[in-house]
Amino acid sequence: MAYAYDDQNIFAKILRGEIPNDTVAESDHSLAFRDIAPMAPDHVLVIPKGAYVTYDHFAAEASDAEIVDFNRMIAKVVDILGVGPGADGEGYRLISNAGRSGVQEVPHLHVHILGGRVLGRMVQPAD
Ligand code: 5GP
Repeated sequence: MAYAYDDQNIFAKILRGEIPNDTVAESDHSLAFRDIAPMAPDHVLVIPKGAYVTYDHFAAEASDAEIVDFNRMIAKVVDILGVGPGADGEGYRLISNAGRSGVQEVPHLHVHILGGRVLGRMVQPAD
């Protein structure tokens, strides 16, 4: 499958330093920053630095190093936020929207980490 990446998307601009962000953590291949319009008390976006549109694009084409780094970054952010269920945290949700049905707004892979409140059901019923 061919994935077309638009390097004018807002997260590409954040990665190039053209737009500021509220960074939570950064690594060789990934960046985590707070969502500009948080839907929960904790709402952080984790993105790869590489040009990937969706999770499946990343999973299919990223290097092993990028994939490990991205997943470790998710674990690091969960730890920084203190939302991991268990010792103290109350839990969280990961979301990665893709394409039109997934209602993806920004065409650069991002995983939302949401926590800090009970989030309700995962998906709304169809109209
Ligand atoms: P999507 O609908 O693509 O899964 O989510 C895109 C997310 O990016 C939204 O939650 C939106 O609030 C966030 N967002 C859009 N533009 C910016 C921005 O310029 N900075 C930050 N930090 N978040 C943004």
